Amino acid sequence: MSLSIRGFPNGFGGEVEGVDCSRPVSPEAVAAIEAGMDRYAVLVFRDQPLSDEQQIAFTRHFGQLEKYETPGDIRKPSDRRLGAGIADFSNLTPAGRIMSADDRIWLFKLADQLWHSDSSYRPVTAKYSLLSGRIIPSSGANTEFADMRAAYDGLDERTKAEVEDLVCEHSLIYSRGAIGFTELTEEERENFRPVRHPLVRKHPRTGRKSLFLSSHAGAIVGWTIPEARMFLRDLTEHATQREFVYSHRWRPNDLVMWDNRVTMHRARRFDRNEIRDVRRTTLTDDAPVIAEAAR
Ligand code: MN
Repeated sequence: MSLSIRGFPNGFGGEVEGVDCSRPVSPEAVAAIEAGMDRYAVLVFRDQPLSDEQQIAFTRHFGQLEKYETPGDIRKPSDRRLGAGIADFSNLTPAGRIMSADDRIWLFKLADQLWHSDSSYRPVTAKYSLLSGRIIPSSGANTEFADMRAAYDGLDERTKAEVEDLVCEHSLIYSRGAIGFTELTEEERENFRPVRHPLVRKHPRTGRKSLFLSSHAGAIVGWTIPEARMFLRDLTEHATQREFVYSHRWRPNDLVMWDNRVTMHRARRFDRNEIRDVRRTTLTDDAPVIAEAAR
């Protein structure tokens, strides 16, 4: 079985064939997938039924798993349905029932339907995320991806100069606040205190520049909040025009991998009375993007 990658028509995203993600992958195949990620930023692997352990093992071919020193959500250990190393993006309770409409975790996770980059609220952001579709609702529930390299390239020169050295503050408080989820405990607020990242990033392997936007970004250092929010909203609107977007329509057992450093994504709405069971493994980036990020 030889690995091949077919890029999507606009050069953003691609589909990988000839790899079994449930088994150890050769160094040559890992290198080919990494090269594919450098080029396409989002890769789709179809027909990959995976156990959580297999998903974790496949993910670790490409780097180090995120360790979650700082919490990324509001779940307590007793609220968790899955084991260590894999994050639950389902609408299921630990007992396997569909969350109620007023379930606090459901409400918190709804903000994943805003454009974002995973873990941009952490001092060290995410490198790749790998999302495995185990149970897919009958309609809706696409995941959309936006190419932040093309978005950067598409800025006019004046805006490129303006964004070049800007630093944003990212926090889960901002993204949740954007949908009116503001009831956080003191401890949660402390866990979610803002971190700083540059608005323009350079990919460590390709050298390409990209916009580092996210719904978690709610402030620009040195700017007033309203002007910062308005500018970030404008940039996000620019960056998520259809020509920069790939919309993934899930089939059960799809595995989708994306580079958070050069993309944003969002979940789309679905009937909350149907089960959506998708599970994510996440790799950490090597270091804070800028020294200030370490706080
Ligand atoms: Mn996400």
